Amino acid sequence: MNSKQLPIEGISSERIFAAMEEIKQKDIRWGEGRAFSLVFKGDPQMDEVIRRASQMFFSENGLNPSAFPSLKQFENEVVAMMVNLLNGGEAGCGSMTSGGTESILMAVKAAREWGKKNKPGHARYKVIVPISVHPAFDKACHYFEMDLVKAPLTSDYRVDIEAVTKLIDERTVLLVGSAPQYPQGVIDPIEKLGELALKHKTLLHVDGCVGGVLLPFFKMLGSDISGFDFSVPGVTSISADLHKYGYAAKGASVVLFKNKELRRHSYFASTDWPGGMYASPSVLGTRAGGPIAAAWAIMNYLGIEGYKRVASTIRTTVNEFKERIAKQPGVKLAVEPDMSVLCIVGDGVDIYQVGDGMTKRGWHLDRQQNPAGLHLTVTYAHAEIIESFFSDLKASVDEAGAFGAKLTGMKTGFAKGLIKAMPKSMVGKLVEREGKNFSKDLDSDGPKSTAAMYGMMEALPGKGDLDGLVLDVLDGLFTLQKPMDLKGNQQ
Ligand SMILES: *Cc1c(COP(=O)(O)O)cnc(C)c1O
Repeated sequence: MNSKQLPIEGISSERIFAAMEEIKQKDIRWGEGRAFSLVFKGDPQMDEVIRRASQMFFSENGLNPSAFPSLKQFENEVVAMMVNLLNGGEAGCGSMTSGGTESILMAVKAAREWGKKNKPGHARYKVIVPISVHPAFDKACHYFEMDLVKAPLTSDYRVDIEAVTKLIDERTVLLVGSAPQYPQGVIDPIEKLGELALKHKTLLHVDGCVGGVLLPFFKMLGSDISGFDFSVPGVTSISADLHKYGYAAKGASVVLFKNKELRRHSYFASTDWPGGMYASPSVLGTRAGGPIAAAWAIMNYLGIEGYKRVASTIRTTVNEFKERIAKQPGVKLAVEPDMSVLCIVGDGVDIYQVGDGMTKRGWHLDRQQNPAGLHLTVTYAHAEIIESFFSDLKASVDEAGAFGAKLTGMKTGFAKGLIKAMPKSMVGKLVEREGKNFSKDLDSDGPKSTAAMYGMMEALPGKGDLDGLVLDVLDGLFTLQKPMDLKGNQQ
């Protein structure tokens, strides 16, 4: 069913682009401010700047900086501007990467190499993170064979410093805090983490992927923001995504280090290859020139005043969202956010059902868990959609409060009861089947009911089952179901 080969004869570009336009219609409508993650939309002028810069350096390769002095110059300037913005001083330095995940991978890898030198004699090194930290840290420790230990949060969703203190041992090389964390949008107590890092001689990474290019401007506008950058004693590295609130083209982030000695631990070199000496600063080999050029262009285009203007619009929009949420019965904020990342939880209604109602009405909101919630990263594009968002939210809450609750509630309750009563081997099979169904739903017209899915997941006895289910979903998603019919688009 899913066999697909190259077309025997090439197909005309008109037909190809017509088919691409058509299939694109199914994507989330981020251009209309319908998405609350994934795409950070600027205004048309900002868009023009990143598109032109990307195209201009479309074919250039950042792998070899001596072949492209242009890219080398852009990259060094982007890093220098970010070091300056985050108070890295004269010694501060860094690398450009393809995104937050790669930035985090490099910071964790540097910590391991630093550990080998400064805390020698351990087979595996330990990284301590809040449970709210981005999964890129799990990924990094998985790839680099390090032990990730997760510290609980206090009731305000910030990491519990006492718990972190207890977890530190002689193998610990890295502590992590987020500014802000993604699930509830609060900044971890970075200053306290800094004190711990200095006392126990560990490194401290601040994950500023989402906040690194917005918090400094909120601060300039007068928001009360706690310390999060290199001005906090003990902070040794920071990740900041340019392709989020930097409004750069996707594929652009920086990982910054306190000094060059630390940065060197993130590097890689191979000198005996018959192909020549090889060295690279990060994970990728070939690096697209477009995102590097676009990041440089947009940063210069906006400047401090431009970013402040954008940040001001975002801040006003966030305040509007907060007020409207407070006025909507049935839902509330999990906690007062520190920046522009909001988490809505249910207040008497099932929030996943509210989410399903919003999906039906064309909004894209991520589902969260522990606690159950909906995620909103508020961006520049959302200033325009406040009215329609809140009228749809009201409708979704009303619906969830009425018949929706009983229906999905029954399904969820049934699944939970069933799972508890089943032998373990059967749970695995059920999970596998549900995973396949779920990925098919996603493939056709979006998940029919995430409420039931999340309800079932809550009832699963072991995390192993859950990992299995999610990997089944992934497997399903990355299996071609039905080739596109390019001939059908003939004009
Ligand atoms: C987005 C994000 C990341 C990961 O960045 P990618 O660019 O998606 O790889 C890491 N941490 C936080 C807090 C984020 O918001």
